[in-house]
Amino acid sequence: MARKKENQESSVEMQENESEMIDAAEGAVDIEDLPFVGPATAEKLRGAGYYSIEAIAVASPQELSSVAEIGESTAAKIIAAARKLANVGGFETGDVVYERRKKVGKITTGSQALDNLLGGGIETQAITELFGEFGSGKTQICHQVAVNVQLPKDKGGLDGAVVVIDTEGTFRPERIIQMAEAKGLDPDRVLKNIYVAQAYNSNHQMLLVDNAKELANRLKKEGVNVRLLVVDSLTAHFRAEYVGRGTLADRQQKLNKHLHDLLRFGEIFNAAIVVTNQVMAKPDQFFGDPTKPVGGHIVAHTATFRVYLRKSKGELRVARLIDSPHLPESEAIFRVTEKGIEDK
Ligand code: ADP
Ligand code: MG
Repeated sequence: MARKKENQESSVEMQENESEMIDAAEGAVDIEDLPFVGPATAEKLRGAGYYSIEAIAVASPQELSSVAEIGESTAAKIIAAARKLANVGGFETGDVVYERRKKVGKITTGSQALDNLLGGGIETQAITELFGEFGSGKTQICHQVAVNVQLPKDKGGLDGAVVVIDTEGTFRPERIIQMAEAKGLDPDRVLKNIYVAQAYNSNHQMLLVDNAKELANRLKKEGVNVRLLVVDSLTAHFRAEYVGRGTLADRQQKLNKHLHDLLRFGEIFNAAIVVTNQVMAKPDQFFGDPTKPVGGHIVAHTATFRVYLRKSKGELRVARLIDSPHLPESEAIFRVTEKGIEDK
């Protein structure tokens, strides 16, 4: 098995550097690898939503003891072991962080102007938030990047596969086919490299990130690298489920965890994370300021790139980069055409 994997990996370009990072990464370890966790306990843990070492690492002994029907001291030992394996709350030396940063990849959006705005394209190991009103092009950009990440590196891609968490049922294979053909790619192959799941509610949406990790690890062993994770929309379920002031703090806390899970995915797999967030163009009768993206400052602080999109004449769209730490706040104009995202 190990030899087979080696052969597969050596046949795939650019695998060598990355395999080190991935092998040491979380998700490569099953919860059964923890002491005191046999098949029966593992099943109870998974049944309660503890799918990964990390989830166990941040649990409390009381929680774990009640869901797994084990003593609290055993639960504490399991948590301690999980913390070691998951490196939760652990530190990395600067050189390790630097090695990871050197591997940051960029995916073209299809528009040079938009790529320039983003400092060369959509970055891996970062969250890019697309926010804007209905029809501003958020979902179109998601589709386009899902195609473009599959391009070879010299064409602005990363030879990568894609995971899409679709919360609004707006993923359209027909649109992928159009865009793939416009790029001269085999549409069938492009579709086969996109793994789509519908999220039925916010909890399910969060769980799908764990599932995506398992999937990406499995694909990795087959020599396929997931280099893009799309969540379209990040906030729709959270917005619908948490109405009213009282539950706002809960919503922010869950959204915060979700975003950190996503960012971690990006770091582990050197993948780009693209999320969408719908805002209304005109203030109306809703609570607070409806032109502000849902998630407010939590999304603002976790997303590395925040792109505000708005409609212009016809096919034209305007993108504005909002408070990026290392890029100037400026605007780019692009078009959404039948071929996809293009320059003006
Ligand atoms: P949202 O920001 O709400 O996700 P979308 O990304 O779905 O918006 O953008 C929808 C817009 O994209 C449409 O109004 C249309 O202008 C454009 N569009 C979608 N599909 C096509 C297509 N096949 N050809 C040309 N333009 C398209
Ligand atoms: Mg959309």
